[in-house]
Amino acid sequence: MRYVSTRGGMEPAGFRDVLLEGLAPDGGLVVPSEWPTVAPATLARWGTLDYAGLAAEVLARFADPEDAPWLGELCRATYTAGRFGSAEVTPLATLEPGLHLLGLSNGPTLAFKDLAMQLLGALFEGELARRGEVLNVLGATSGDTGSAAEEALRGRAGIRVFMLSPWGRMSEFQRAQMYSVADANVFNIAVEGTFDDCQDIVKALGGDLAFKREHRLGAVNSINWARVCAQVVYYVRGYLAAAPRLGDEVDFCVPSGNFGNALAGWIARRIGVPIGRIAIATNENDVLDEFFRTARYRVRGAAQTLATSSPSMDISRASNFERFVFELLGRDPAALRALWSGPGAAAGFDLSGTPHAAALGRCGIVSGRSTHADRLATIRDQYARDGRILDPHTADGVKVARERRRPGVPMVALETALPAKFAVTIREALGFDPPRPAAFLGLEARPQRFVRVPAEAGSVREILLQHAALPA
Ligand SMILES: *Cc1c(COP(=O)(O)O)cnc(C)c1O
Repeated sequence: MRYVSTRGGMEPAGFRDVLLEGLAPDGGLVVPSEWPTVAPATLARWGTLDYAGLAAEVLARFADPEDAPWLGELCRATYTAGRFGSAEVTPLATLEPGLHLLGLSNGPTLAFKDLAMQLLGALFEGELARRGEVLNVLGATSGDTGSAAEEALRGRAGIRVFMLSPWGRMSEFQRAQMYSVADANVFNIAVEGTFDDCQDIVKALGGDLAFKREHRLGAVNSINWARVCAQVVYYVRGYLAAAPRLGDEVDFCVPSGNFGNALAGWIARRIGVPIGRIAIATNENDVLDEFFRTARYRVRGAAQTLATSSPSMDISRASNFERFVFELLGRDPAALRALWSGPGAAAGFDLSGTPHAAALGRCGIVSGRSTHADRLATIRDQYARDGRILDPHTADGVKVARERRRPGVPMVALETALPAKFAVTIREALGFDPPRPAAFLGLEARPQRFVRVPAEAGSVREILLQHAALPA
């Protein structure tokens, strides 16, 4: 399998070559040069595998044949009942006849990001050892991504993690979850500023190419191809669990932020899993809902991005969206460059009335939107029905899943986090705190490790100069 850039300016490369990378060298995103296909007989055989076995098979379709044993070994080490709470890894529950909930949040940090990030940690460690290299992961987080990354990379050979978070702006739970990671290769940096300040510092240091190369800086953000790829697995799994008969259509509904999760669903459909429609659910930050309804992509600035009660979806510029638009344009890098970097591109683009609008109509993705009031109503409604407590992001998905159901077609809503992470909103909806898994009792009382710095790149640069891992 070869990888190319959406912008057409990269020499084709292999899975392992692109594994550690973020953006392609030409500023685009890497995509497979062609899509693998999964025949019905293969899908039937996949139905007999456990999660790790299925993950190994799916990932092997996106890698080179000689990588398969290595991928199989890492999948078996990663997708265990011990780490994900059950042998099923992603159990399917039924909310009502024909409407299911795929549990993706039983990993170490209680959000679906663990499913890809845990594997990514193992892949990074293995690939760095093979190359004899080290990596200093520099990231910024407003909460969830940071803890998933730290949990996946802690204690890994050849990797150090420098995670910037906004001082005093996370929930007690999120703060304790990150700052209590005790491993010596994890450095929590509390920045006296906002999440945007943290991200600006990461951009400033990563944008200094000489510094970046010399200090082996890398990232684990949601554009990483292996992360997307690892997310395809649970769509196959969810399909196999929910389809009445193999070959029947199943629809999915996905709470969407950076469009990584939804893109993985589109890929599962593209390679031949009989997924009918993928409904994406946005919150009040509804750029993508607008796009899928109108074919108009109207970019909004940071100032117009609202802080909502489903904070992991407070995104106006979805970083994986370029991969989807590349497909919509018939994989034409010149057309993509024209949309993305042509005159007026900063404001967005309008595909309505163009031949691409027809492709949009056929792509299988539909959308919906959910507000704070919808979120509270959905949490209350589900609790009244069966005592189940949905996290606010999952509630956005369930709201849109109900609107988008088709007669006779099973709908699978994705559970992207457990409610324990978002106690304030659960209290507002239900009047009491969500239950906590046993491993998190007393979390806030554990010793915390972090350094506090002013919101300027210079102080973070100093920390990197002192603590970054050096090439052997
Ligand atoms: C990251 C996240 C999302 C959004 O997922 P994308 O892949 O960025 O679209 C939704 N819900 C939760 C709980 C998340 O942590």
